[in-house]
Amino acid sequence: MAEIDGKTKVVGLFGWPVEHSFSPYLHNTAFRELNLNYTYLPFAVKPTQLKEAVEGIRGLNLSGVNVTIPHKENIMRYLDKIDPAAQLIGAVNTIVNKDGVLIGYNTDGPGFVDSLELEMEIRVKGKRMLLFGAGGAAKAVAIQSALSGLKKLVIVNRNLERARALAHMVAKTGCATEVIGFSEVNAQLVEETDILVNGSPVGMHPDLAVEPIISPLLLHKKLLVCDLIYNPLETVLLAAAKKAGAKTWSGLGMLIHQGALSFEYWTKERAPLEIMRRAMQSFINL
Ligand code: NAP
Repeated sequence: MAEIDGKTKVVGLFGWPVEHSFSPYLHNTAFRELNLNYTYLPFAVKPTQLKEAVEGIRGLNLSGVNVTIPHKENIMRYLDKIDPAAQLIGAVNTIVNKDGVLIGYNTDGPGFVDSLELEMEIRVKGKRMLLFGAGGAAKAVAIQSALSGLKKLVIVNRNLERARALAHMVAKTGCATEVIGFSEVNAQLVEETDILVNGSPVGMHPDLAVEPIISPLLLHKKLLVCDLIYNPLETVLLAAAKKAGAKTWSGLGMLIHQGALSFEYWTKERAPLEIMRRAMQSFINL
């Protein structure tokens, strides 16, 4: 980030609350590193003032914003265009202001897929995924993976209605889907899985002393085990997966890549991934 002057472009974050967000640090570190004349500001937007805040993007000529809880779904009605994947996910986390036209994207799912490809050299195309959870993060991962050619998705969730709604959306992409409860997870199912994903908060800081979302006895060395949790870096699930000889992937990769994609939408510059990784690690003190 250069010194703020008359040419500084402004991006930011709409959320309620925003005080604890890592995004200002992540993006301002990247702007500074590339010497880009941008600044990233937190905007605490009350749910009742979301419409006015969106008008403010145009009115103040912001280059774009990130969107976080609780606005990711509600903000969509105020935008001019929505990217098809974000439409399917039903949530937007990035807005680009293109000459007054506001376009909504979701970079969470692509962040997951990009991270697997770039860091693990693993493509989801043609793979079978076993996904625990059907909330916001799980949804983004499921839909983007399906759009990227996933062959089969099995969703395990407590609330089966929520999981069925997600499976219904995923099926629209041509990916085979199945919804099951926790009691139906068995060795054969895991044997027939390539990528296992924890999309639930089980194992997230500070609740570290929990059982993994799946029995460690079912894990095997042909699996890639992913945990969307990024704090801690090695969750109880990933520790068990390592022990079973499986490949492991932490949610930090998704966090960095979703930020990198937003950065690239706004600046049209390639995001400094390593700098962003180090910034995130120091922010969450890993
Ligand atoms: P969410 O919308 O609240 O969804 C949570 C999901 O987890 C639901 O499907 C819920 O099941 C399930 N769940 C919650 N507690 C559970 C338990 N004790 N046992 C079994 N299932 C449980 O949350 P979210 O925003 O998707 O976040 C989920 C996780 O992803 C969090 O750890 C978050 O930190 C992480 N995340 C990571 C990134 C990243 O970039 N790496 C981005 C976003 C989120 P029911 O439907 O049955 O209630």
